Amino acid sequence: MRCLEPITDQFRVRFQELYVADDGDHDPEDDEDSGVSRLEGDLLDLEPALRDAVVLALPFQPLCEEDCPGLCIECGARLKDDPDHAHEDPIDPRWAGLAGLVTEQDED
Ligand SMILES: [Zn+2]
Ligand SMILES: [Zn+2]
Repeated sequence: MRCLEPITDQFRVRFQELYVADDGDHDPEDDEDSGVSRLEGDLLDLEPALRDAVVLALPFQPLCEEDCPGLCIECGARLKDDPDHAHEDPIDPRWAGLAGLVTEQDED
């Protein structure tokens, strides 16, 4: 979420789904309306139920670690790898006047 580092995680998901034997005599649209899951012959297609359960359990804002400092807003460096990261570039002359204002306020 903050530094774009790939992450891996493990979690458990519980779900419950009822499957009805396929009697070969039903309208697939009725199933969609009623939310009924059917066996396909002798086979059970777990993917839709599994996908729904997993998607809901995925973290909304995944972080590589709890206090990930993210990226440097100036150069995009990952601050976790380089915590003392600093830039000494001169302030753009067009904004130099504003920097003076902030300093005066801080001194007050
Ligand atoms: Zn991170
Ligand atoms: Zn930087």
